[in-house]
Amino acid sequence: MASRLTFSVLLLVCGVAHAAETMRIAMGAEVASVELTGEGLSVGEDADGADFEPLGERATVTLVGGHLTVDGKPSPREALRFRAAKAGTLTALGTRVHGDVVVVPGKSKLVAVNVLPLEEYLVGVLGSEMPRSFPLEALKAQAVAARTYALNKKLEQYGQPFHLGSSVLSQVYRGLEVEDARTREAVDATRGLVLTFMLQPIEAYFHASCGGRTEAGADALGRDLPYLKAVDCPCGQLPSSHWTLTLKAKELAALFKKAAGLEVQGRTRTGRVRRVAVGPRSVDAVTFRERVGYLKLRSLDFEVEQGKDGWTLEGHGFGHGAGLCQWGARVYAEKGWTFQKILQHYYPGTELQTLYE
Ligand SMILES: [Zn+2]
Repeated sequence: MASRLTFSVLLLVCGVAHAAETMRIAMGAEVASVELTGEGLSVGEDADGADFEPLGERATVTLVGGHLTVDGKPSPREALRFRAAKAGTLTALGTRVHGDVVVVPGKSKLVAVNVLPLEEYLVGVLGSEMPRSFPLEALKAQAVAARTYALNKKLEQYGQPFHLGSSVLSQVYRGLEVEDARTREAVDATRGLVLTFMLQPIEAYFHASCGGRTEAGADALGRDLPYLKAVDCPCGQLPSSHWTLTLKAKELAALFKKAAGLEVQGRTRTGRVRRVAVGPRSVDAVTFRERVGYLKLRSLDFEVEQGKDGWTLEGHGFGHGAGLCQWGARVYAEKGWTFQKILQHYYPGTELQTLYE
């Protein structure tokens, strides 16, 4: 922790971070083989200034006896970096990406890692994480949150094969396919801007909709951070914030043995469910939501009613509820708030710093 703090303070004070800041993003789970295509595809060592050898237009990497092989030929290297001569044509695992793709052995199979400039990564993240039709100030607030989140993870994972995954559990990134002029404008307008607390990039969590009040970090994520406090939010007035879910007795029994009942056992200070009794078992609500499914059980802000053949859950919001609320940011932006004001609201006590120009 001490070295991480020193590193990030240095990064901020001395301006070690620069526009060429790169991210390493794992492209999904481990796979048996990675197919790459690109115009003028070449391969080299995973190091700055490495020499690249031409490959043609297509290559397949597999793992044979613990060694990387390219199109069946064993390679002495421990990691392979692929690049396309023509920008925007490199594709790995069916996703077109910016930058390079590094293929490394994972725990048992292969991991494809997209290595790309942070600012390019953000353009892709923004298009996956927030509707592109949202007002520009909301998109800018999301861009700063995503940049801060990414840098925080990079510091945490420094020296590891990758800093972040590309799923909903980290930040959703789908390569080049979801970019457009508006997401690029929001990223460019906030270039290098990062939210800090005591000179460190914060853990800038965000979610779709809180349902009317955000959740404290301690209750939502087990992260008791001074800038993740419960704050009021206008998203609860939106009709889309309300949801209903019916859990049939059979369904619940398949997820939890002896699920003969469902009852709320405790709530957090914002009224979200903290624990539930599923039959004779007491289950932590975060685990309950994970087991039922994050997309199906949209939030923990719900009431339960028993019906004929199961339980009806009536709730508000979508997501864990901590940090920036995207639908709330949209409402504030429509009211004329700037992205700075939106960020101050959802991450109280933080400072905006320019990490690089
Ligand atoms: Zn909200």
